Amino acid sequence: MKAVDYSQDLDTVFAHLETSAEGLSAAEAAERLARFGANEITFRKTPAWRRLLAQFYDPMVIILLVTAGITTTLTLLGEHMLPDTLVIIGVVVLNALLGFVQEGKAEGALDALRTLLVQECLIIRAGTEHRLPARELVPGDLVALEAGDKIPADVRFVRVSNLHVDESSLTGESVPVQKITGALAGQDLVPGDQRNTGFSGTYVSQGTATAVVIATGHQTVFGQIAGMVKSAQVKITPMQRKLNEFVRSLIIAILAVGTVSFFYTLYLGFSISYGFLGAVSLVVASIPEMLPALMTSILALSGVVMARRKALIRHLPAAETLGATTVICSDKTGTLTENRMTVTRVYAGDRVYDVSTGATPLEGEFSLEAPVDVTGHPALSTLLTAGSYCNNAHLSGDGGTGDPTEIALRQSGHKGGVRLEQIRRVEEIPFDSSTKYMAVLVDTDQGRQVWVKGAPEVVLGMCDQSLDAQGQPTSLDSARVAGQATAFASNALRTLGFAMKSVSLDHADLRHEDLSGLVFVGLQGMIDPPRAAAKDAVAICKEAGIRTMMITGDHPDTARAVAHLLGIEASRAVTGAELTGMNEADLRTLVETVSVFARVAPEHKKAIAQALQANRHVVAMTGDGVNDAPALKAADIGIAMGRSGTEVAREAADMVLQDDNFATIVAAVEEGRHAWNNVQKAILYTLPTNAAQAFLILGAVLLAAQVPLFGVRFVLEPVQILWINLLDSVLLTMPLVMERKERDLLKAPPRAADEGIINARFVQRLLIMGLAISLPGFALYYYFGAPAVVGGQRVDALLLTQAQTAAFWGILLAHIGYVVSARSLKQSAFSFSPFSNPWLLGGIAISIGIRLIPTAIPAANELFRTAPFPLAWWPYILACFFPSFIAIEFLKRWEKRKG
Ligand code: ATP
Repeated sequence: MKAVDYSQDLDTVFAHLETSAEGLSAAEAAERLARFGANEITFRKTPAWRRLLAQFYDPMVIILLVTAGITTTLTLLGEHMLPDTLVIIGVVVLNALLGFVQEGKAEGALDALRTLLVQECLIIRAGTEHRLPARELVPGDLVALEAGDKIPADVRFVRVSNLHVDESSLTGESVPVQKITGALAGQDLVPGDQRNTGFSGTYVSQGTATAVVIATGHQTVFGQIAGMVKSAQVKITPMQRKLNEFVRSLIIAILAVGTVSFFYTLYLGFSISYGFLGAVSLVVASIPEMLPALMTSILALSGVVMARRKALIRHLPAAETLGATTVICSDKTGTLTENRMTVTRVYAGDRVYDVSTGATPLEGEFSLEAPVDVTGHPALSTLLTAGSYCNNAHLSGDGGTGDPTEIALRQSGHKGGVRLEQIRRVEEIPFDSSTKYMAVLVDTDQGRQVWVKGAPEVVLGMCDQSLDAQGQPTSLDSARVAGQATAFASNALRTLGFAMKSVSLDHADLRHEDLSGLVFVGLQGMIDPPRAAAKDAVAICKEAGIRTMMITGDHPDTARAVAHLLGIEASRAVTGAELTGMNEADLRTLVETVSVFARVAPEHKKAIAQALQANRHVVAMTGDGVNDAPALKAADIGIAMGRSGTEVAREAADMVLQDDNFATIVAAVEEGRHAWNNVQKAILYTLPTNAAQAFLILGAVLLAAQVPLFGVRFVLEPVQILWINLLDSVLLTMPLVMERKERDLLKAPPRAADEGIINARFVQRLLIMGLAISLPGFALYYYFGAPAVVGGQRVDALLLTQAQTAAFWGILLAHIGYVVSARSLKQSAFSFSPFSNPWLLGGIAISIGIRLIPTAIPAANELFRTAPFPLAWWPYILACFFPSFIAIEFLKRWEKRKG
């Protein structure tokens, strides 16, 4: 294969690429795929060692490392602090490894999600169109492109119709470039000037084209630039940002308290190493080392579950925001309805015909009172011809390929005997949801003609005559036609108007300005049944305090009729025309009361989203077209259609619906609420346990002067605290996240969008649970250890160590008492089975099992500063389960009563 460039004519290009207007054969394509490789750009991944190293670049780890440095120095100066040093370093390494693994898992999950979002394109092979993943493209393939498509490889245009391409991603030029097919002169043209070439990664903003692939994957212009680009970073969510900020301020506060505690102990006359130990213990106790990694895991996990329910999250923040959604603005066609159109009623020659469907969609009859023969009804025949001429769909046995509206029109045409052999398409103005029409210029055996189809009022505006029953032009009664269109719409029919005119043969191109003086041909009305699941989903939303709004390009009466069938408030429908020029304050009032918007253009969707947001709503908005991108970006959650949507909409969205179904949005909202619950659970469990340990140490420091026992040793050793913070928090918090969804997630109103996690309820829990966990540990240590210190002198070092070991165990039991109830944010632990979360049972069993390592293995006793204690102490230790369990149960009941 020889090289191709912009200066060659198309014949040369085809010859060099060894292809034809039919495209490649399947065998040839397979052979080329093996030769050239897949059409994709593989990003350079951050190497594993760099990601591991990045784990150490964290304020908490740095504090721990500095601490280890100081304990080493003290050891060298003769203090007995080697075990602390070893354990701190062990912890830092373990923490890094755990973080690394967690992050790897979260990223793996996200990568898997990304591979589900494959770009597809229409490839022409051996003369037929196939929808295939873009990665299978090879040089020489022919592709069909339309507005909204991302150009899948570098291509040379073979046929263009009003083709405009947005190349801003490549050239920075924001005005779309009109493309042509001929050869270009000039040397070394930059991509921006190569007007006959399309570049991978740019978007078709208008028009249609057929193009031949000239380069794929890393051979494309974008591939050559992107070769060096790193993979995209995982975005953090607003909640994670807040949490990180919180942890950062926490660290500063803790360092300050630690420093004060250090000087306080020195002031009391204790040794430097004792004071330092207190400060270190306090710092280590209060920092929730594992929390940030845990948050990423929760959201990634929830992304995976959503994907299983056919909602693909493109950015992690969406998982979190979804849970707070208060309004869902949905398109009608395809999302709330099935997008399976069938023409059931037509209006031609001032008569209304019913259309039946037979055994297949291609069979059926037209009837007035009784079935009629279409050939005897010239106006009807012309109307059906119009539907077939203004059409890019292809029929197949029981359906077809292309836009469902156009498939329905081809089907009704087929029923009426329309065949398309004798026409040649000269030019097309493609359908655009802003202009709401589509037009073609065709050559038929009656000469050159313009045919238009579109929203009835738009088409009527182009006409000054209409066809009578005999198919002869007569004067147009616009009001009568409009009345008929309204009657169709009120019956939930999606209605299109048709018009035509003959032009001279030298009329070679078609422009918007040419569309006047047309003859109105008739109307075709089609049903598009509402999705059964959508009706249920609307009802579920209502119960969940989420309003469903329908925003559609269709006629207001059709919109209202369909909304009514679905249970959406439909007493009034406001049109795009009414929205234009409305001031912001009026719009804000309007969106609170009206739920159906019709005949809207994409820019209205953005205005509606913004008005809702100004009213403090969290807005999820669907979209599928090129022009929907700004609205999708403006909404809190932009939702694109996976099947019918354009690539532009998908790239602008936060979430993609694999099945285009409204009910899937509701499922995703439920998962979003679940994720938020999990985040809350993890935080409301973890941070009070840190507080408890901090209280233990702080209590000991403060009492050191009064109670001789605390002047000798703090309740727990730093190494023990690290053990608790690291292992217990993973073993007991992770299972909380695996907790089954609470049943009533969609029965309560959405959470307030600005509901922080760090609120009054949180502070309450922190204090009460902190005390409920720490006091038993404190008491154990005091009760068993007090005899070991007499008159400020240590008389029994072993007893002291035993008392600490007992407290070390007591804290674990207190945590278990808390966690069995922390499984639900609001429900009592008695309302669910203790065995329904096997993960938690496993976590509890393992945390008890591995606690035996530092306490029961003699070799480890020295390292962890533990000692075996009498069996008779166990009842006291086991009793530590209850204070925290009872406290959290009471707290929940109290919170519930308070509402
Ligand atoms: P939604 O916005 O809910 O998906 P919709 O599909 O009706 O609803 P648009 O696709 O913007 O919205 O269509 C708006 C109007 O344009 C339709 O009501 C119809 O009258 C007309 N229309 C739709 N598709 C075509 C088409 N392929 N050719 C010509 N006119 C069309």
